[in-house]
Amino acid sequence: MHKKLFVPGPVEVGEDVLSKMATPMIGHRSKDASNLQKSITNKLKKLFYTENEILLSTSSGTGLMEAAVRCCTKERAAIFSIGSFGDRWHEIALSNGIQADLFKSKPGTVTKPEMVDAALKTGKYDLVTITHNETSTGVMNPLDEISRVMNKYPDVIFCVDAVSSAGGVKIETDKLGIDICITSSQKALGLPPGLSMCTISEKAVEKARHVENRGYYLDLVLLYDTIKKKDYQYPSTPNLSLMFALDYQLDRIMEEGLENRFDRHLAMAEYTRNWAKKNFNLFADEKHASVTMTTVDNNRKISVRDLNLELGKRGFAISNGYGELKERTFRIAHMGDLTLEDIKELLFNIDDILSLA
Ligand SMILES: *Cc1c(COP(=O)(O)O)cnc(C)c1O
Repeated sequence: MHKKLFVPGPVEVGEDVLSKMATPMIGHRSKDASNLQKSITNKLKKLFYTENEILLSTSSGTGLMEAAVRCCTKERAAIFSIGSFGDRWHEIALSNGIQADLFKSKPGTVTKPEMVDAALKTGKYDLVTITHNETSTGVMNPLDEISRVMNKYPDVIFCVDAVSSAGGVKIETDKLGIDICITSSQKALGLPPGLSMCTISEKAVEKARHVENRGYYLDLVLLYDTIKKKDYQYPSTPNLSLMFALDYQLDRIMEEGLENRFDRHLAMAEYTRNWAKKNFNLFADEKHASVTMTTVDNNRKISVRDLNLELGKRGFAISNGYGELKERTFRIAHMGDLTLEDIKELLFNIDDILSLA
C-alpha cells in the first residue's frame, strides 16, 4: 500500500506530475531542450520574485549548496547554522578546502541579525550562508531582518538555503538582495528528487570568475556561461524527465496562484501547530515556527516508531526527529500539494491511534 507522505521530503507527488516523467526523450542539444529550459526559467523567476538568472543542477539541493560556497568564496565564508542543514554547509566548505567559520544558534532558535552584523563587521568574510527553513528543528529564519543587515555589506555574497521553503513560502529574492537562493525538487515544489535549482545574481557570477578551483560539474560560471551562450542548454546532459515534470508542475503552481499556495501552506501550518500545542508542544518558538513543516516536542515521550508503524497500516507516514533530536521530537511536513483536508485526516488518525481525542 502506498503511504501518503507527510515527511519533509521526498513529498507526495501527484499522478499527473509523475506521468510527465514518462514523456518521450528529446535531444539535450535540441531547440526543444532550449525551449523547455526557457519555459522553466520564466516560471521559476516568478516563483523566486527575481530578475536574476535561473540555473538547474542534476543533483539534489546539496549539490548547489556545494557549488555556491565553493565557487563564490575567495576569502572566508561565514556559515550561520540553526541546525543540521546549517552545519552541513560548514562541512561542505571545509571538505572543499574553503576557509569558513561556523556561527551556531541554539537548536529551536534563529540566526539573530546582530550575529550576522557582528561577524561581517570584522571584514573577514566575503560570503554568508543562511538556512531559511531549518528542516531539523522546524524553525524559519527572519530573512527580512537578516537581509537588512546584509544590505550594509554589498560586497558580501548572500547565499540562502531555501530547500524546504521555496514554493511554500514567499521569498522575494531580489528585494531581499539574495545572490544565490537554492531549492530542491522534492520538497515544497512537490516533485520527485533529483533536481535542484537556484537563482544567481550577476554579482555572484562575477565574484566566481575570480575564484580558482571551482571544480567542473558544479562550476556555477560554466553553468551560467553555457546557459547564456548555448541558448539555455547545459554543459552536460540534464535530467530531462524531471524537467518535463517541473515545467508541468510550475504550470499547476501558477494556476493555483502563488499567493493561494502560500496561504494554503500557512493554513496547514496553523492547524498543525494548534494540534501540537493542544496535545504536545512546539519545539520552536511559535513566532519563528516553520510554515512548511512542524517539529513537535515529544513531551509525552510516545514511541514515534510505534506511531509511525500504526500510521503506516492506515496509509500515512510522518517523520521522526532529525539527528540529535531523533527521539525528542517528531516532524509533520505540510508542504507541496498537500491540503488542509489531508492534514486533518492525518491528525485525526494520530488522535485515534494515541487515543487523544
Ligand atoms: C532537504 C534539505 C537539504 C538537502 O537537500 P537535498 O535535496 O536532499 O540535497 C538542505 N537543506 C534543507 C533545509 C533541507 O530541508
